[in-house]
Amino acid sequence: MNTDETTFLNPQSALEHLATYNERDGLSINDLMNTRVHGGLTYNDFLLLPGRIDFPASDVVSESKITRNVTLKTPFMSSPMDTVTETEMAIAMALLGGIGVIHHNQSAEDQAAMVRAVKRHENGFISDPVVLAPSHTAEDVLDIKARLGFCGIPITDNGKVGGKLVGIVTGRDVQFRDPSTPLSEVMTTELVTAPQGITLTEANDILRDSKKGKLPIVDSKGNLISLLARSDLLKNQSYPLASKNPETKQLYAAAAIGTRPSDRERLKLLADAGLDIVILDSSQGNSVYQTEMIQWIKQTFPQIDVIAGNVVCREQAAALIQAGADGLRIGMGSGSICITQEVMAVGRPQATAVYHVAEFASKFGVPVIADGGIGNVGHIVKALSLGAGAVMMGGLLAGTEEAPGEYFYHEGKRVKAYRGMGSLEAMEQGKDKTAGKYPATGKPKVVENAATSRYFSESSAIKVAQGVSGDVQDKGSVKAFLPYLHVGVQHSLQDIGVRSVAELQKAVKAKEVRFELRTASAQVEGGVHGLNSYKKRLFST
Ligand code: GDP
Ligand code: 5GP
Repeated sequence: MNTDETTFLNPQSALEHLATYNERDGLSINDLMNTRVHGGLTYNDFLLLPGRIDFPASDVVSESKITRNVTLKTPFMSSPMDTVTETEMAIAMALLGGIGVIHHNQSAEDQAAMVRAVKRHENGFISDPVVLAPSHTAEDVLDIKARLGFCGIPITDNGKVGGKLVGIVTGRDVQFRDPSTPLSEVMTTELVTAPQGITLTEANDILRDSKKGKLPIVDSKGNLISLLARSDLLKNQSYPLASKNPETKQLYAAAAIGTRPSDRERLKLLADAGLDIVILDSSQGNSVYQTEMIQWIKQTFPQIDVIAGNVVCREQAAALIQAGADGLRIGMGSGSICITQEVMAVGRPQATAVYHVAEFASKFGVPVIADGGIGNVGHIVKALSLGAGAVMMGGLLAGTEEAPGEYFYHEGKRVKAYRGMGSLEAMEQGKDKTAGKYPATGKPKVVENAATSRYFSESSAIKVAQGVSGDVQDKGSVKAFLPYLHVGVQHSLQDIGVRSVAELQKAVKAKEVRFELRTASAQVEGGVHGLNSYKKRLFST
């Protein structure tokens, strides 16, 4: 019973009464990011306030743009680092809806072989299938299997696409055969084919009904035009979020290069291999080398999107946008292996950097990527709320099965090596005799001048490190970890009360989504505390 004189408002008018407040609870993005008042912020310095939920988390769409022309279904990228992204990671990332950026601390040929492997992994019509002639041998097929991973090979009279289709060989045809057996003796000659001009859907129907592994497409004279693989139907079904070129149905491939003259030669090889996106890998992107490189790439390879960077402020971004960048990568010194801010005294707290660059770049329709410092799902959502089209992760993915390198034990924990590309260890890669072999070409990972030009230091007499070398704990397969990040983002956006990344960014700009700064003690409160011991399991499948 109310004993004092206070009279209460009618509870039925609570929502109506709320409208009488001049401002919403919490801070708008502009107030939060007022650096004069709050200084530079990291992801841990703030939280988003919850909104209203009237939809299931599974409805949340995480689609987002990473360049002017490329949209991903999940906003995840893996870093171009030699302990993070090679073929296996790049394929897994693309199949799961993100994209992996293949590092350049290796020869141009090895990097191009990795790009080619990504592009060949999944297809619609394969317009340049590997073809053999009847005079080739079983050994040739086994060699292709070892190098490229498939062995369903159409046979034409001249051994080329465009020649008359005379048969097809599969793995089983050459199994247990003498390696010198000519293919004319083992190939299947009764073929199910489809005519040139057929749509992908019609061709897929024939493939499904015929129960064959491959469907050659031929012209009216019986000459081979292209090929369809049954396994691609399955991949399409298993990976509905896959990042693919809508026309070729091939996975998107991205790779990093530097801005030296030799990098132009490197890019030619990568472009030949089918590269879609190139990342200009520099810790300080606002350089004349980079603007010239962007202009050259846009003229020479207009089909390739250029992500320039790294940048952390508007002034840097403006120069690169004007030069023609299709996307920007943001971050300087926020990476988990990074000592740039300590050594160079330059950089910017990552949340502030992402907000200011994203806000500026959005005016020109240039998407941005928040690179470095992502340690959990919350950081991803915060980066997206500040305007990022995607996050780029190194350390968070380095402990997965798909990252290069073997697991080992360190103080009783199963770990993988993870090192900064500006660490002395990475810059001295050329001297590293223990690096093993690249599976694509079988060549040892010993590369002349292999260190990247990212940190400008590797050709100097004294190398100044901007990163460290360490290890990270086993995270299992990316095929379980990335879906966890995706569902995590969906749940978070549901809490915020928005149904998509686009809606989140719009509502932040409209000051509808609100923020709160976290004091040091609020950060302690927000973590696990007061327990004697605990186990932190993040997800189950
Ligand atoms: P196979 O039966 O050993 O040929 O292998 P699968 O059919 O299981 O896998 C073939 C995969 O490699 C599919 O995803 C194809 O799209 C891809 N691929 C890329 N290029 C080629 C090619 O030139 N020939 C073949 N057969 N497959 C290719
Ligand atoms: P993480 O996800 O581990 O926090 O950060 C990965 C990012 O750190 C990379 O994408 C790259 O931008 C950056 N990075 C990689 N190696 C180095 C390094 O040696 N020094 C610095 N300063 N940054 C690095």
